[in-house]
Amino acid sequence: MQAMLLKQYMNLELVEMPEPTIGPDDVLVRVRACGICGSDVHGLDGSTGRRLPPLVMGHEAAGEVVEFGASVTDLKAGDRVTFDSTVYCGRCFFCSRGDINLCDNREVLGVSPGPYRRHGAFAEYVSVPRRIMYRLPDNLSYEQAALIEAVSVGVHAVNLTPITLGDTAVVVGSGMIGLLTIQAVKHAGAARVIAVDTDDDRLRRSLELGATDTVNPKSTDAAESAPMESSGQTPPPPPGDAAPPGGGYDYPLTFSVDYPDRSLNRLSTAFRIFTIIPIAILAATIEGGSYGAQAGGEGVRYIGGAIGILVIPVLLMLLFRRKYPRWWYDWNLQLTRFTNRIAVYFALMDDRYPSTDEEQAVHLAFPYPDAERDLSQGLPLVKWLLAIPHYIVLFFLTIGAVFAAIFAWFAILFTGRYPPAVFEYIEGVFRWHNRVTAYVLLLITDRYPQLMAELYPDPQKK
Ligand SMILES: [Zn+2]
Ligand SMILES: [Zn+2]
Repeated sequence: MQAMLLKQYMNLELVEMPEPTIGPDDVLVRVRACGICGSDVHGLDGSTGRRLPPLVMGHEAAGEVVEFGASVTDLKAGDRVTFDSTVYCGRCFFCSRGDINLCDNREVLGVSPGPYRRHGAFAEYVSVPRRIMYRLPDNLSYEQAALIEAVSVGVHAVNLTPITLGDTAVVVGSGMIGLLTIQAVKHAGAARVIAVDTDDDRLRRSLELGATDTVNPKSTDAAESAPMESSGQTPPPPPGDAAPPGGGYDYPLTFSVDYPDRSLNRLSTAFRIFTIIPIAILAATIEGGSYGAQAGGEGVRYIGGAIGILVIPVLLMLLFRRKYPRWWYDWNLQLTRFTNRIAVYFALMDDRYPSTDEEQAVHLAFPYPDAERDLSQGLPLVKWLLAIPHYIVLFFLTIGAVFAAIFAWFAILFTGRYPPAVFEYIEGVFRWHNRVTAYVLLLITDRYPQLMAELYPDPQKK
């Protein structure tokens, strides 16, 4: 068959290739239309690490069934189909929960990041598992069907947004996905749609497709522009009052620290290792008093935010009664916040003395779990084991964080300011620690924290 092969970066060549082979669960599809994703363009120029040549790209396509494996019983040759781009295994922990986009063994059609190479649909034929395939209605053309993946992104975004009839919506970005989102939000009932983009041509097209207003932040301050103001869209709150961001992906525990955009107190920074002692001793008494003597050097331990929390009682209650008593949850939440404030203070990220009850710069939250519905009974017994890969990575990241904090110490003494990149890194390590804690010790969720999620913020990226 003929295929468009990415031989090396910036070199696409039409070549003769053997037809793909199919397994018992697979279907051989004759490709009739295939979209070019923005990620394929970045694959072509090599700016992502996810299109290692040689590779046939293309993951949003439609075509007709040619042949299928022995286990496929509900299709016939000639059926018109489209397919998802994520090939999930259907057997791992995430797949069994329906979170197939997090599948441990997932591959993506037309993508090769190193661990796997999966040829895509810039070819006459492509092999696709039956479980990610959908039959097309007759009135949908192949070209339209090839767009379904992109359309679904816009529709999903709108589905996640509470919109009532007559609302005003702002869509940031007017590329292909943005333009589809504009159309989806119109269909959802928004009366006014404000498109924001830095490219005037794209903004013109957004008006053709249903946007009612446009804002180009290059020429106007988007937050204070006339359409935004007249529509009652409030500008984003100043950083200090911002809600805690999810931190890369939607994990039940959220954590963020306000960046101190000011001169930090150099004297208290210089002697932080001593000023931490009183509060560390206080915290140690909560743990039962055994750590008081070495309080100063033990500040690092608070990074875990897991000191003195109720673990064993919760584990026993879950195991025998499927219950997470509310006041234990309250205790664990408040104590986790408190120890994180101490850790943040020790890492020099704030110069206000840690409060026992005020939130200060540290925003940490996790929901009260419905133990009967959301938490498995036996899993807490083995969670500590499952999380071993996290401990290993965190061990090294924490060493890195200690050196980063020492670097920040010098920076603050000389300039008064915390280097933002260092701040973000340490914040990320804290967040990661907290999420592992939430999973293994706080036991508030069964969701396995994504490994490296804080370093690669978007696990679903194509
Ligand atoms: Zn794509
Ligand atoms: Zn899986």
